[in-house]
Amino acid sequence: MEQRDILSMTLPELQAAVTALGEPKYRAGQIYRALHVRKVKSFAEMLDIPSKLRAELETLFCIKSLFVSRKLASSLDDTVKYLYRLSDGQFVETVLMHYHHGWRLCLSTQVGCKMGCAFCASAIAGYIRDLTPSEMLLQIDETERDAGVSISGLVLMGIGEPMDNADNVMRFLELLSDKDGRQMSLRHVTLSTCGIVPGIRALADRRMGLTLAVSLHSATDTGRSRIMPVNRRYPLQELMEACRYYFETTGRRVTFEYAVMEGENDSSRDAAALASLLKGTAAHVNLIPVNSVRERSYHATRQAAHAFLQKLERLGVHATVRRTLGADIEAACGQLRRDAQQPSVYGEKR
Ligand code: SAH
Repeated sequence: MEQRDILSMTLPELQAAVTALGEPKYRAGQIYRALHVRKVKSFAEMLDIPSKLRAELETLFCIKSLFVSRKLASSLDDTVKYLYRLSDGQFVETVLMHYHHGWRLCLSTQVGCKMGCAFCASAIAGYIRDLTPSEMLLQIDETERDAGVSISGLVLMGIGEPMDNADNVMRFLELLSDKDGRQMSLRHVTLSTCGIVPGIRALADRRMGLTLAVSLHSATDTGRSRIMPVNRRYPLQELMEACRYYFETTGRRVTFEYAVMEGENDSSRDAAALASLLKGTAAHVNLIPVNSVRERSYHATRQAAHAFLQKLERLGVHATVRRTLGADIEAACGQLRRDAQQPSVYGEKR
């Protein structure tokens, strides 16, 4: 029988499992706190649990773990990029960044991605599987342990499309914010999506208080469909309606990500299309010069991003050029994993 992934279980699920074993319900609380507050890595460390029950737990459940496979520290700032190996030998990336108010972590939600955005390294390495809630929690725990820091904010902007693994991501957020466990405020969490409309609407209805970021990258259907296949399924008008619904339902402003790609989406017409798309929304646009990926020709300098910013400002759009952290360690998602997947092509050369 396959062992159940205990770190992905909610407290009520754990209570049901423990009482089914004929044990009192409060034992579930002890186990849950050991896992989510003390963050033990083995049943042997649960010293408040009788040894007979610990032995039983050991046969029925597993506590997953992650291993640091590679770690790149930026010499320009405090950014550290981790390549984590999962228990089945797959890899994901997690990036630790220092911001004005503390440490923020950029998490992966899938091993690879199906969305196929033309400029993204994750698309090139292909999709393998979804991450479990425990594997998302462990990216936080292992990074805190390794770096000796306490993480105060999260962005779901690593490898994967969170809305394509929505059940596991929602459960992860539930475990993360549970008042009986980790107690992280979801106000400090940003979920970034390429624009899966039903996912945005469902998230709005849950009113979890997190920030929604939408990867826009182009304000015309022709331009966006060229670089983001998801736009063919959920075109801009539907996407913008879903964003308006998110704002009206949650009261939280949606932010838009726009990776500037010279000659692709940074003309005056592109700026005008963006201004007209966002008219009357008070939305904020985060501009970032696209990170060049070896296999693709997209590129942009910071100057190009600032030139596009000026065009937008003249049209009254609220935008900023995001600080690029860890530029020397290729902090764009998916690049380390892609190299780890294809050692015969690229080797372990960094
Ligand atoms: N799938 C989600 C979250 C992961 S990608 C999404 O699409 O939002 C996180 C962000 O990085 C997205 O805005 C994505 O479009 C952007 N991104 C991907 N590759 C990039 C690159 N090469 N340069 C700059 N941004 C990139």
